[in-house]
Order: sequence, then C-alpha cells, then structure tokens
Amino acid sequence: MPIAMKNATTADEVLAALRAGDFSHEALRAALLMRGGEQEKLFELARECRDRCFPDKRVEVRSVIEISNICRQGCRYCNMGRKRDYEHYIIQLPAFMKLVEHIYRSGRRVLLLQSGENSAQSFVEHVALCVEEVKKRYPDMLVILCLGNLSRTQYHRLRQAGGDRYILKFETSNPELYSHIKPFDKLDRRLTCLQWITEEGFTASTGNIVGLPGQTLDDIVEDLLLIKKLKLSMMSCSPFIPAENSEFGDQPMGDLDTALNTMALLRIMNPHTLMPTTSALEKVGHDGQYRGLMAGANTVTIHDGTPEDLKQLFPIYSVSRVRPTQEHFEEIVHRAGLKM
Ligand code: SAM
Repeated sequence: MPIAMKNATTADEVLAALRAGDFSHEALRAALLMRGGEQEKLFELARECRDRCFPDKRVEVRSVIEISNICRQGCRYCNMGRKRDYEHYIIQLPAFMKLVEHIYRSGRRVLLLQSGENSAQSFVEHVALCVEEVKKRYPDMLVILCLGNLSRTQYHRLRQAGGDRYILKFETSNPELYSHIKPFDKLDRRLTCLQWITEEGFTASTGNIVGLPGQTLDDIVEDLLLIKKLKLSMMSCSPFIPAENSEFGDQPMGDLDTALNTMALLRIMNPHTLMPTTSALEKVGHDGQYRGLMAGANTVTIHDGTPEDLKQLFPIYSVSRVRPTQEHFEEIVHRAGLKM
C-alpha cells in the first residue's frame, strides 16, 4: 500500500494523498465519493492544480460545427446511429465556409468539427477538403476534429489537410462494458485508433462517460488511471444522459457529483491538460457547467456554428440538448474567476 494511503480513513488524508501524487485505486475511489464540504476541498485542490499550470486563468473558447449527422456506429446510448430513423445531412463546402466566416468574424480561433462516425471515403475526403479550405483562408484558425473511428490512412489525410487536434473518447475502459454499449465496436479498436491519431501528429484528446448503465465506481477509477497513462494534452468527462430514442432511454441519468469529482481528479492527475465543461453537465443538473469550471475545467464550446435548422438533427444525447451561448459562458466564466 502506498505510504500516504496507510490508514487513510478521513477525507483530509485522501486529499493529502492526492496532493502527494498518490493515485492509488483506494484514494481515487474515496475521492469519487466525496460530497458537501469534502467535495469543495477536492475542487479547491483541482483549481489549485489548474491555476498553477494556467496562471492567466483563461479558458479556451471553441465554436462547434456539426458537419454531418450520418453515423454508421450503433452506440446504445446515442440518439443517432445505424439503428435510428432520422433525416441525414452533410453540410456542403460553400455553406460550411459561410459558417466558418461567421465564426472567424466573431473573433473565434478554435473550430471543432463534429460528426457521426462515418468512414465512407467520400465523407472523409469532404471533411479533408473543408479543413484545407479553412486553413487556406484562415491560417490562424485551429481545427479540432471529432469524427470517431477511421482508418490510419484517413487520419493521415485529415492531418495532412491541416487538422490540428482530434477528440476520440474511449467512453469506458472496461472492455466488456464497452462491447455492451457499443455492440459494433471493440475497446481495443478504439484505443488503436487513438494511437494512430497520436502517431499521425494530432494533439489528441480522450475521455469517458460517467454513469453508463452497468458501470461501477471501480470502472471509473480505471478510466482515470487509463487517461493518466495515455499522457495526452486534452481530456474530457461527461455524465451519461439517457437519450430518448436510444436503447438506454429508460435508464437513470448519470450522477452529476460523481462526474464532477471525476473531472476534479482528472485535473489533479493531469494538471497541464485542456478539459471542457460539457453541455451534458448543464443538462444533468442546475449550474452544471459552472460547477464543471469550479471542478477544474478550462475549455468551453459555444454552439454558434451549426445552422439553426440542422441543430435538431444532431440530437446525440437528447432531442432537447443544451446548446450554450456566448452570453451563458461570459456569465459563468466570470463567476468562476476565469477569463474568456
Ligand atoms: N461519433 C464520434 C465518436 O463517437 O467519437 C464523435 C461524436 S460523438 C456524438 C461525441 C461524444 O458524445 C461521444 O464521444 C460520447 O462521449 C458523447 N455522447 C453521446 N451520447 C451520449 C450520451 N447519451 N450521454 C453522454 N455522452 C454522450
């Protein structure tokens, strides 16, 4: 047993262990269960770690464009995918560039392109051409991609086109649970994709979902340890939301406090990384995204990219998704003592 965790019974001892870099299973498990004043102390430690590594207290502001909702995956937690009946779209290049122009003129310099998982070569080539065009017209625009599992050649093409970063969450580190929630995929395959993404030179991000049906507290501890082991520069955690038209529509919502404690631990274990306060947090509980910032997040995503008429066609976790605005973030970021 690690020295700092001998007889670790009180919250203060657990916090001292975490501060000393003891990320034993026992310490992490105890920290996930902290509530009330103990949880506040955990968040304080997380903010201390964040503010030491990001002393300017600035959050990264991203604009998202959901470029297509076509998804060939079959995630049981998602409203989209091969088994669902919904109207498909792909935003074509001229319309896409108009959206990018609007985002650029609003002063934004970080663009997140998200889509369903669609490895059709024509779609990946379309995204590559969109990225090339963005980089040609706006060389100072940073492009983050979140398109799911692709082939190594496709990641290579997207990187050559100018993609800077790639988000690929492993969702859960438990291989059996992974196969259960994503019956057409395997955890090994997802992690191989993540490795390719890194090897192709993308700055990579990964993360988990907290509160998945069948997930245990020990699974979440293993998620935390895997994220640390992967040593990436971005990470993310969001609570599970029972999407209405998904197979998990009647399951209970993920617990907000457990998700926030997971975020705080991620921050303590990986102080230098970027971590978003996700819109799913706001969906799960009052002031969820503000609490995410208080738990150590330092990235926000404004939903000002996807055109209004397409927004309801990208209902990943709910048909009534939360789509945070600039005003919302200005208020919560200021309240959290941070800057946009
Ligand atoms: N399809 C791509 C993929 O799987 O990486 C990218 C887009 S996917 C819609 C983005 C993320 O949404 C997923 O990685 C997952 O963590 C999250 N998500 C989807 N449905 C969710 C749900 N019901 N509850 C919580 N998170 C969800």
